[in-house]
Amino acid sequence: YTNLPTSFYSRVEPALVPAPKLVKLNESLASDFGLNIDALKSQEGVDILSGNKIPEGAKPIAQAYAGHQFGYFTMLGDGRAILIGEHITPRGERFDIQLKGSGITPYSRSGDGKAVLGPMLREYIISEAMHALGIPTSRSLGVVTTGESIYRQTFQPGAVLTRVAASQIRVGTFQYVYAWDSRENLRVLADYTIKRHYPVVADEPERYLLFLRETIKRQAFLISKWMLVGFIHGVMNTDNIAISGETIDYGPCAFMDIYEPDTVFSSIDIYGRYAYGNQPAIAQWNLTRFAETLLSLLHEDKDKAYKMVEDEVSQFSSIYKENWISGMRAKLGLFNKETGDESLIESLLNMMHAHKADFTNTFRALTLGAPQETALADVPEFNQWLEKWQERQKRQRESKEAIRELMKKSNPAVIPRNHRVEAALEAAAEREDFSIMEELLEVISEPYAYSEKQAEYAKLPETPDCQYRTFCGT
Ligand code: AMP
Ligand code: MG
Repeated sequence: YTNLPTSFYSRVEPALVPAPKLVKLNESLASDFGLNIDALKSQEGVDILSGNKIPEGAKPIAQAYAGHQFGYFTMLGDGRAILIGEHITPRGERFDIQLKGSGITPYSRSGDGKAVLGPMLREYIISEAMHALGIPTSRSLGVVTTGESIYRQTFQPGAVLTRVAASQIRVGTFQYVYAWDSRENLRVLADYTIKRHYPVVADEPERYLLFLRETIKRQAFLISKWMLVGFIHGVMNTDNIAISGETIDYGPCAFMDIYEPDTVFSSIDIYGRYAYGNQPAIAQWNLTRFAETLLSLLHEDKDKAYKMVEDEVSQFSSIYKENWISGMRAKLGLFNKETGDESLIESLLNMMHAHKADFTNTFRALTLGAPQETALADVPEFNQWLEKWQERQKRQRESKEAIRELMKKSNPAVIPRNHRVEAALEAAAEREDFSIMEELLEVISEPYAYSEKQAEYAKLPETPDCQYRTFCGT
């Protein structure tokens, strides 16, 4: 990335911090990446993870990008994140390694460039949970506290998160170059991104069209995965949408409990723009913004370029729906396709909505063959539905065991529930007690295990948390 035009980034150095202390290292990720765990835990390693020391050969940068925030276009950029460099794993995969919360950059605007412990641990927990659920995502390598006290409504421990992603190239990166840079540089960015994320088409004459098509496909796949586990990103601004198709920028995200498409947790999303049920439509809107930036590369003739964009973006809904239905079929233990499947799925969801059933636990109970444990147990309509569902299951060749296995693989026994996440963060940030978080991380690291320990974590809070609010903590 540092070989690209200098307008794409700024050279920066992470801020020095007074007393870095490692509070969490992702040892399995570190070993997967071929990194030396002991070295990362040593003083030198902690200095690197806190930004106090720059690894040999690294040329840290902050990346420039723009974005539509809640619909309004603005210049942004890494205001509190610094890209330390790229890392190639023993398997030959390339990742960006980034520090979040490591001081101001030319894009910090009025911000302090810092981060605090609670939100950084939150990103750690949720991103690792998403990975374990099998959803494309950036990951968290470690969290250090800095020894600083940072003001966010109250004073809180300063922290730096090290996160890794296939890249940090966003829809907003393209928007930035499109809005303020040259057409030539847009081509440079597109070619670079294609080489990095979709190299098989790099030499195709139609590569920009194929790239757009693939980006739409990946986004449709990603959002369907979110919807199938009840994940709400919370801030689907175009600057938070990665071209790689990974989930990035965990802020006020959370998992839905009761099935309610209007669910919003983020304190800043006052109009519910990024509500659970809006996520597919918003993804399509974001992809339209992305496609617009490619117009000049797609065709010299403006009208033809517009037509191409329109055709491609309009495919999103059907690609999304196909992914979603096939995921829902798996959740219900269905291997083959039947035309009545969609209405079978919809009628279950409608009952879940009407009777305020917990999303995860309803599918968990069906998986365990315990429909009486759902909130729908006394609903007569539900019993009819169960009969229909069982008949439907019989109209396929697979055995009962195979059906159970498919359902187990497709319905998490446990998600990081809001009250559990909050308890873990509070203990860590207020009492320096990391044991609750460690236990939570262990339980959510194998969400499809259906272990005994997980039963406890499947329980709902004693008082329902429909008033639950999440904050960006920025
Ligand atoms: P986010 O909502 O985390 O995606 O952030 C939106 C924009 O605000 C990005 O450009 C961030 O880098 C920037 N930002 C968020 N928090 C801070 C902060 N404390 N200091 C500087 N910039 C920030
Ligand atoms: Mg962001």
